[in-house]
Amino acid sequence: MTGTRRSEDSSSFETAGKGDSCPTCGAVLIPIVYGLPGGDLFEQAERGEVELGGCLVVDTNPQFHCRGQVAHYWRRGAQGQLIAQVR
Ligand SMILES: [Zn+2]
Repeated sequence: MTGTRRSEDSSSFETAGKGDSCPTCGAVLIPIVYGLPGGDLFEQAERGEVELGGCLVVDTNPQFHCRGQVAHYWRRGAQGQLIAQVR
C-alpha cells in the first residue's frame, strides 16, 4: 500500500461526503448518486451538491467527483479510503 498518510486509529476513518476535498486538486468532492433519484436529489443536483449518475449501477462506478477544472473521479475502498478512478 502506498501513500503518505497512516491511520493509527481504524475507528477514525474519514468518510467522504459534503465538505470533503479532492486529494489531487483540493476541489470540493461531490457524491455521485446512482439509481432512481427522489425529489430531494433532483433539488440537490440543481444546486450542484450531488451528481446524478444514472440508473446503470456498476461496481466500478466512481462514487465521487471533484469540481476542479479537470474533474477527478473517486470511489471508496474497502476501508473508506478514496481511490482514484479513471474513466
Ligand atoms: Zn480534483
